[in-house]
Amino acid sequence: PAPLDTSTCVCAYTKLSSSHTVATWRRGTAACERALQHEVGERIHGFTVSQVTDIPELSLTAVKLSHDSTGAKYLHLAREDTNNLFSVQFRTTPLDSTGVPHVLEHTVLCGSQKYPCRDPFFKMLNRSLSTFMNAFTASDYTLYPFSTQNPKDFQNLLSVYLDATFFPCLRELDFWQEGWRLEHENPRDPQTPLTFKGVVFNEMKGAFTDNERIFSQHLQNRLLPDHTYSVISGGHPLCIPDLTWEQLKQFHATHYHPSNARFFTYGNFPLEQHLRQIHEEALSKFEKIKPNTAVPTQKPWDKPREFQITCGPDALAADSSKQTTVGVGFLLPDITDTFEAFTLNLLSSLLISGPNSPFYKALIESGLGTDFSPDVGYNGSTREAYFSVGLQGVAEQDVQAVRDIIDGTIEEVLQKGFEDDQIEALLHKIEIQMKHQSVSFGLTLTSYIAPCWNHDGDPVDLLKLGSQVARFRQCLRENPGFLQEKVKQYFKNNPHKLTLSMKPDDKYFEKQTQKETEKLKQKIDSLSPKDKKQIYEKGLELQTQQSKAQDTSCLPALKVSDIEPTIPLTHLEVALAAGETPVQYCAQPTNGVVYFRAFCSLHTLPEELRPYVPLFCSVLTKLGCGLLDYRQQAQQIELKTGGMAASPHVIPDGTHLDVYEQGVLFSSFCLDRNLPDMMHLWSEIFHSPCFEEEEYFRVLVTMCAQELSNGVPDSGHLYAMVRAGRTLTPAGDLQETFSGMDQVKLMKRMVGMSDVRQVLRKLPHITKHVLNRDNMRCSVNATPQQMSLAEKEVEKFVRNVGRSKAEWKPGHLSVVEKPAPSGSSGSTHISGPRVLRKLITDPTFKPHQMKTHFLLPFPVNHVGECVRTAPYTDPDHARCGGGEGPGGRRAAAGLEGEGGLRS
Ligand SMILES: [Zn+2]
Repeated sequence: PAPLDTSTCVCAYTKLSSSHTVATWRRGTAACERALQHEVGERIHGFTVSQVTDIPELSLTAVKLSHDSTGAKYLHLAREDTNNLFSVQFRTTPLDSTGVPHVLEHTVLCGSQKYPCRDPFFKMLNRSLSTFMNAFTASDYTLYPFSTQNPKDFQNLLSVYLDATFFPCLRELDFWQEGWRLEHENPRDPQTPLTFKGVVFNEMKGAFTDNERIFSQHLQNRLLPDHTYSVISGGHPLCIPDLTWEQLKQFHATHYHPSNARFFTYGNFPLEQHLRQIHEEALSKFEKIKPNTAVPTQKPWDKPREFQITCGPDALAADSSKQTTVGVGFLLPDITDTFEAFTLNLLSSLLISGPNSPFYKALIESGLGTDFSPDVGYNGSTREAYFSVGLQGVAEQDVQAVRDIIDGTIEEVLQKGFEDDQIEALLHKIEIQMKHQSVSFGLTLTSYIAPCWNHDGDPVDLLKLGSQVARFRQCLRENPGFLQEKVKQYFKNNPHKLTLSMKPDDKYFEKQTQKETEKLKQKIDSLSPKDKKQIYEKGLELQTQQSKAQDTSCLPALKVSDIEPTIPLTHLEVALAAGETPVQYCAQPTNGVVYFRAFCSLHTLPEELRPYVPLFCSVLTKLGCGLLDYRQQAQQIELKTGGMAASPHVIPDGTHLDVYEQGVLFSSFCLDRNLPDMMHLWSEIFHSPCFEEEEYFRVLVTMCAQELSNGVPDSGHLYAMVRAGRTLTPAGDLQETFSGMDQVKLMKRMVGMSDVRQVLRKLPHITKHVLNRDNMRCSVNATPQQMSLAEKEVEKFVRNVGRSKAEWKPGHLSVVEKPAPSGSSGSTHISGPRVLRKLITDPTFKPHQMKTHFLLPFPVNHVGECVRTAPYTDPDHARCGGGEGPGGRRAAAGLEGEGGLRS
């Protein structure tokens, strides 16, 4: 696999972030004010300013420029955010499925003129303080973004990125390694058979084991059959071996050219410096060309079309007779019409999101399938957007019924329209998404504008969300039937409509293998003895090159003097609510949003209930509470909050590998004005959660199970890692129970049950152990002005939460009381009482070796190995690579932080 997750995103439409990370930047205006000084027509380092726009709703100033001698486009978003981001985007519109843009994305990272060492991205990891480095191939563009908070680091990374994309070596052996090659099974033994090898070749073989991906790929290919969207930009395993090294170099010359590039910078670093470096190191060395990369508009059909395809069987399906996917797609207008795109995106959300939307009510609750078909809703990753809806996990004979429901639902919407509350909930969601800004905001913005800008749509227009919302409201005021008219135009009377169904074929993988064998034979038959000799020699040469130690001294690196010697302290205050529950308060410039989180320890939970905690968490905020049924509760959550969620949590102790804390984390956020409503909802959920709606519970269980099993082929390495850690620490064991293959199997079993009541009845038992204030701690992040109100509301909430009625029957587990880390020495300063945590240890636990193999019918294998090392506070932890290099990061990502394990 590639060292970084250089993945292809076939559906690259990225919605504004909904992650829960709180930004650490402090609000100021210096960067925006500086940017506002620029004037249209001003010339800076070879560029000319064409537009300067203040966008107050996102607290940023946009400066648009173009490069005089090459025509390269440039957008700078000045914002008082220290996490600065750069990206360069090329319009890559292939006309075959050889995966040329994808292979190129890999190959440019194999060394460049100034930095001839292999994998400069990977090698930069320990020479840089980057907060993000990656590359993506979408259907019609390739994007190279990075972010960092350090100015010198920004220059270093920019230099590496510019050199990689504009001056890559693209050596033949790089193409062999990354794309495809013929090689002997054992490269040292010319007697062993020749096979296909190559990073992208194998990656795409893996990608094509994912049924959801196969379905959405076909949907796009067939709905937009006229040009680049009819092919697979990532490459089809059977077409990749048709790509030549010459074609790759040619594609680079015509596509990775400044005249076909869009540069993007974001953050508080000065624009002039970026422009100078980009001009000097790259653009000044080129002359303008006419890139022939534009995508013509898709010719609309005069009547609907229909296709059937096949896929591999779902090895984890509870019911093998219900494995068909059916979806209906509609062509929508060009995404560069930003207001029309905005409107249709909203309309799609109204149609499909949440239990109150018409398609959800009709399709999901019909019981005909297990979940929506993949890529349901608005897709704006192609020049003409499209909408799709359908179901997966359907019995073959029910396909027509699903299609009838879809048509019927469209009729119903035309008759009845949408309730005001639904529209308000949606506009509220946009407002809160604009205000809730995560630490990776720059990355969110570049992904948001990339598809539209790629086709010369106006990226600045797209960012003016405030005026889009205002215009939308005005349209509704002037014409109450505004949305119905759109439904009529784009759904009811739209002949460009595709019905796609996909059913499993037991021989699918066998047939794929056979096709590959034929392809291989064809290639081998055309080889002369001289070719064969060359293949053997090149295989050896590649092996020698790969095992050679790399000289990385050419790469730039940070010096200690480039790094700020101190870290700004974050001040936290702890106070006791209701005299006993610790609440941590942190005042931050949160842009009018309040973040509330609570953690309830689960140390009293009997072991037999543990496997049900993830399910408990995923249904807790969805089944209704107090007087609200599940639909009313969903409506309230959408109207008043940015989301309310519960998730199982395993926190390994920093000093002992065998000690950990288990619990449930509750997280939520809302606009300042809605805090009392949100806390009231939490009170109702804690006080009287509802576990009565059996039918709806069954719907949620099948959806959870479907999502889990869809993820297995693609995340096999993560499942392997979690499984491998299971016998090494008690926390690893619990991790497997909560999120490993055991959990997938348990969920699948539940779907097959004729009576889910026995599972439903377990949930109130978990409630007794979790939803009480005995082992709860909370945290609030809000603006200083909101703190006293927040304190009052949290106090009220905590007083309402009951005490534990559960009695703890100690099994072989024992509880260790420990104060929470006190901060002060690290990057936090905490004042107030100390917080005691109840950790768990299992004195009978003995770490031991275990090998497990899961046999699944996919042609790609995943392996994970885990070694028990040292806890976080042990000096050896750093030596084992904790936090350093990708191994440490992967371990941290897979195992929730201070795990002391290497994967
Ligand atoms: Zn890739």
